[in-house]
Amino acid sequence: MIDALQKYLKENNYSQFHLKTAMFDMDGVLFDSMKNHSRCWHEAMKHFGFNLPREEAYMHEGRTGAGTINIVSLRERGHEATEEEIEKIYAYKSQLFNACPKAERMPGANELLQQVKASGIIPMLVTGSGQKTLLERLHRNFPGIFLPELMVTAFDVQYGKPNPEPYLMGLQKAYQYLHPDASHSTLHASHSTPHASDSTLHAPHSTLHASHPTLHDLAPHHRLAPNCSIVVENAPLGVQAAVAAGVFTIAVNTGPLPDSALLDEGANLLFPSMQALSDAWQTLLHDIQTVKV
Ligand code: MG
Repeated sequence: MIDALQKYLKENNYSQFHLKTAMFDMDGVLFDSMKNHSRCWHEAMKHFGFNLPREEAYMHEGRTGAGTINIVSLRERGHEATEEEIEKIYAYKSQLFNACPKAERMPGANELLQQVKASGIIPMLVTGSGQKTLLERLHRNFPGIFLPELMVTAFDVQYGKPNPEPYLMGLQKAYQYLHPDASHSTLHASHSTPHASDSTLHAPHSTLHASHPTLHDLAPHHRLAPNCSIVVENAPLGVQAAVAAGVFTIAVNTGPLPDSALLDEGANLLFPSMQALSDAWQTLLHDIQTVKV
């Protein structure tokens, strides 16, 4: 683990970590919900005459609904889907998903979160999901862990993963929380008003094409420095977003993809499960707090 930590510090020109927060993705990290998502994506696309294999759905995890639908539409028809098609397909997928049995807590997730909090590190949530039921379940399943002002969801972001925006916003929210007296006057956190229960549908198509947005409202001095945090992610696009935000990224491979799908996106460490990460937490935390280059 020390090697991976030192490599990150060197590559990002830091001499050490100043760990204050740990940012957690939700689907496939805190909840074992990806099996349901991938099956519903596959079935919904099939219903409308498209082919999206279950395993491929894991590769698209974190993308907006419109983004995923358009990738398949472009591949199979040579053009993007219409707004109406996107709404129909996404509504059907959501209907199937809502009829699924409730996803369980990921084994080891609660144990890890309790340890993180007891260590004095602030747990944060950074998810592309905006499903109200899932967010309510978060509070039921992990009571007292996540403060609302320390959560980034689909309702906060404009671009979403794989853009670094959600994690940069996480660093911004952490800064505001830790520096309550700092002036917020120059910050313009964008609070979009979603039209549907899951606003990932309506996020702009730019997630498909755009690289990095101009985050003019996220001036670096209003954000926690990336070496004050770590990210726990399970999806290739989520790892891509976290790495692009400059944060040490721990991948947990809780799905069917090969480890290389996460390591190739730049994950700094990889664990086979949340339980394995939880078991390693005390050692990892000690290493993070003592490593120097
Ligand atoms: Mg995930």
